[in-house]
Amino acid sequence: MRAAVLHAPRDIRLEVRDDPAIVEPTDAVIRLSAACICGSDLWPYRGISAIRKPTPMGHEYAGIVEEVGEAVTAIKPGQFVVGSFFASDNTCAPCRDGYQTSCVNRQGLGGTQSEYARVPLADGTLVATPEVPPADLIPSFLAASDVLGTGWFGAVAAGAGAGKTVVVVGDGAVGLLAVMAARLLGSERIIAMSRHETRQRLAREFGATDIVEERGDDGVAMVEELTDGIGADSAVEAVGTQEAMMQAIRATRPGGHVGFVGVPHGVEIPGAELFSSHVHLHGGPAPVRRFLPQLIDLIWNREIDPGRVFDLTLPFAQVAEGYAAMDERRAVKVLLTV
Ligand SMILES: [Zn+2]
Repeated sequence: MRAAVLHAPRDIRLEVRDDPAIVEPTDAVIRLSAACICGSDLWPYRGISAIRKPTPMGHEYAGIVEEVGEAVTAIKPGQFVVGSFFASDNTCAPCRDGYQTSCVNRQGLGGTQSEYARVPLADGTLVATPEVPPADLIPSFLAASDVLGTGWFGAVAAGAGAGKTVVVVGDGAVGLLAVMAARLLGSERIIAMSRHETRQRLAREFGATDIVEERGDDGVAMVEELTDGIGADSAVEAVGTQEAMMQAIRATRPGGHVGFVGVPHGVEIPGAELFSSHVHLHGGPAPVRRFLPQLIDLIWNREIDPGRVFDLTLPFAQVAEGYAAMDERRAVKVLLTV
């Protein structure tokens, strides 16, 4: 099969690798219906996360089940399935509590920018759609496997809901879909922090009521101005930098909640400031699996269209151009036809 492999910063290549096979009786092998590039793939692509050896890329996936191991009972060949970037048994204590990304048997999934993928713990990890979906829904199901689920968790962790004012820091796919989630969860006012016109437009279409272009302290001051000087009830941090994290904490009122879902790179939170802030902080690798049944329903019934975050579609052979477009912020998110 063909798969995208990162060799060094900005050196991504399409290569022929062995087709995956069933290894454990709880595995499934799926044929991807499309692949995509995540904002978090840019950390290693830019060399910010070290690349020690050629690394197959990608952790988002949706597709048709080709084969299942003999212990798999719920998932069947021929089904269209969506899963998350950590395989989980969905039965242990963290899983039952809705934290499948901390499953005691969790296994990271990688290398899904490929034609086929092996998914461990198939019964606990994968969620099937009612039938094989029409082609136009595939981008939305692919979005559900990470960026929608992650944005949704960010909004839930931030306590977004009826009557709330929610700030979203970050205008990548996760931030934009956190706006969508905050809207669906009933939030009254949604402030998107973005200085890119096309992303601002999408944020507004997804439900943002206000846009703040300023960053850092100026951005915080603007949020305060919009919230009678007290700050927002909720903030979603969807970047992973020090500036974004502090912006989220400082834009939140005492007693408010910050949901942080950007993968932290060099983030250090000053203890004394956090102590004085009276802000609730919750986040981490999003337990996308918790939300998948609900998100799949919403997409299947065409109540949401998260696939709109894909603003560039390329054939798989042009994967390098896809990475470059996202790196240079010419694209919000790239879909690869496989
Ligand atoms: Zn578990």
